[in-house]
Amino acid sequence: KQKQQGKEARYDTRCPFCSVQCSMTLTEEKLVATSRFKAIPNKQDPTSEGRLCIKGVHAHQHTVHRERIRQPLVKTGGAFVETSWEVALGLIAERFKRLQKSYGQDAVGVFGGGSLTNEEAYLLGKFARLALGTRYIDYNGRYCMSSAAAAANLTFGVDRGLTNELREVEDAECIVLAGTNLAECQPTLMPYLRRAKKNGAFIIVLDPRETGTTKIANLHLKPKPGTDGAIAAGMLKVLIEEELIDRTFIEARTNGFEQVESELQEIALAELALAAGVPEEQIREAAIRFGEAQTGMIFTARGVEQQATGTADVRQFLHILLATGKIGRYACGYGAVTGQGNGQGGREHGQKADQLPGYRSIESPEDRAYIASVWNVEEKDIPRKGVSAFELFQKIDQQDVRGMFIMGSNPVLSSPHENLVKRALSRLDVLVVVDMFISETAEYADIILPTTSYLEDEGTMTNFEGRVVHRPGSKPPFGKAKHDWQILCELAEALDRSHGFQFSSPEEIFNELCLASKGGKADYSGLSYEKIKGEGVLWPCPTKEHEGTGRLFEDRFYTEDGRAQFGSVHCPVDSENDEYPILLTTGRVLTQYLSGTQTRRSDALLFKEPEPFVLLHPETASSYQIQDEDWVMVRSPYGEAKLKARQSEGIREDTVFVPFHWAGSVSINHVVAPELDPTSRMPAFKRTKVKLKKIIEE
Ligand code: SF4
Repeated sequence: KQKQQGKEARYDTRCPFCSVQCSMTLTEEKLVATSRFKAIPNKQDPTSEGRLCIKGVHAHQHTVHRERIRQPLVKTGGAFVETSWEVALGLIAERFKRLQKSYGQDAVGVFGGGSLTNEEAYLLGKFARLALGTRYIDYNGRYCMSSAAAAANLTFGVDRGLTNELREVEDAECIVLAGTNLAECQPTLMPYLRRAKKNGAFIIVLDPRETGTTKIANLHLKPKPGTDGAIAAGMLKVLIEEELIDRTFIEARTNGFEQVESELQEIALAELALAAGVPEEQIREAAIRFGEAQTGMIFTARGVEQQATGTADVRQFLHILLATGKIGRYACGYGAVTGQGNGQGGREHGQKADQLPGYRSIESPEDRAYIASVWNVEEKDIPRKGVSAFELFQKIDQQDVRGMFIMGSNPVLSSPHENLVKRALSRLDVLVVVDMFISETAEYADIILPTTSYLEDEGTMTNFEGRVVHRPGSKPPFGKAKHDWQILCELAEALDRSHGFQFSSPEEIFNELCLASKGGKADYSGLSYEKIKGEGVLWPCPTKEHEGTGRLFEDRFYTEDGRAQFGSVHCPVDSENDEYPILLTTGRVLTQYLSGTQTRRSDALLFKEPEPFVLLHPETASSYQIQDEDWVMVRSPYGEAKLKARQSEGIREDTVFVPFHWAGSVSINHVVAPELDPTSRMPAFKRTKVKLKKIIEE
């Protein structure tokens, strides 16, 4: 809580900029015309262990930025004009009601975000289904971890970021990091890997370019973007041939191995190595190292997951864990390294098109009946499954959806095929955006509602381990901004649907969320604010007496028969494309977060990396006569981005890398193809075929 000490205020909080959720105390010393802030990391935090990265140290800067919105804005004559909450909410309710009367309940859609607190994610799902009565809700987590979630659900029957407690990592003898750049995306986790290495671990990293994370690798494999699954399949083939698998575990705990074994007999290792563009011997070495280790863990992140076959690719890695019996025991397990601040919790509480709270299925009669009983409505009152995030923008583009409510997200910058998303938003009859700033998405809005920052907003987050933690909201709201949960309750009332939205604190919402999760896969029902304050608790936690679950799958998996399920072998097939010969992959830089709405408003963070770039190999640069700092046009059939060249011998010659945090003509999501994974509906952000052109300035 805020404690006044003379002119100094102290705020206990958590950094909002990644799934580690590092805790800290921020002090604010009030000077004459400004304030001086200091971030002090919390040494008692069991995950961050008293560390903060540069983003955490400067996380407060955007909260006092001059561009923060102080009160509701309504677009009038093409310009935003300040108005009162009463007028803004009345206007939204009236316009949404009119649209739904003319075109049906589904004419209004909702888009959420993986940085919302658990309470807000839960309430947003309930708001869409009950207050608006629409099937159309999805969120930006669909763009983030949905393939890892789908793969884990299909294989283990449940999806929790890390299947073990983080501290077990340092005792793993072999660690595979596939498509994850922890050093820039979750920097405070790197000491776990350093300690593991010091203890003798062999670390294998899969990434098409050298990064801060590859520096720690004993073996760095550089696959073509989109082919990590081929490497994993190749590793499993070697493990079987070298008899480094655990047939007792396979027999006792899994289904479907015979099918995978027979499929792998039909594929040559050379074929898999060729598909991935890595030497066969590297795959062999990775497999033998992992197979011979007594303990081992595998981590995947967006490099594997944000692909048109991301779910199948992640499953190839899970097959390795199952075949070697390295799951459900000490220092053996899987981690999907969540990116967003509440990426894990954001996907558990019902803002996904196909899910209800507690990781329940919206199509299951039992799940629907249980949630209806918690919400005190009839089962038939809960709408059916909608569509995934990008498909929602396609629905808007076709004018099947005519009004949108967007909270905690900036989809103009974070979606693929940016031109389609902009066109779709411009076709809406009504767009309402809840944000702290006039983001690139909010520019299209008819009404913008100002929300509170992480310093002001109390709630819970579920970090990438699956640890549910409490974040105090100790600073008073900025201007007339309101908390997201308050906005939802007040808008429900304006829509004459206040039943079920009469909450007076986030704790009350959390208590209902816990009840809604009871008996579900992500069971929070034994949690309370009191219990999670301090270190937090790992779910599932089904009773008040339960201490939480550090390690999953010790005795059984979450499938119906308790056994894990192998899928099929997947080997991506690459086709040559003479017109678009280069592979584009996108990602983050250390000092920015997501679409940059907050981090681009931090001078300290922007100073470190003020603009995006296209990273390319010197051989590639030379073939296009490109020098460092030259302007380069990166073009696909969907659009183009103009970027400054930066050369690196550490990237594959057939691949270029561009960070995605910036807007305008440099936004790389203009270029990214809207290709979706058939299971998770995740877009393929990490692989688009492009061509390059040096721009000759007049
Ligand atoms: Fe911690 Fe992540 Fe914030 Fe860095 S960005 S301080 S690692 S929560």
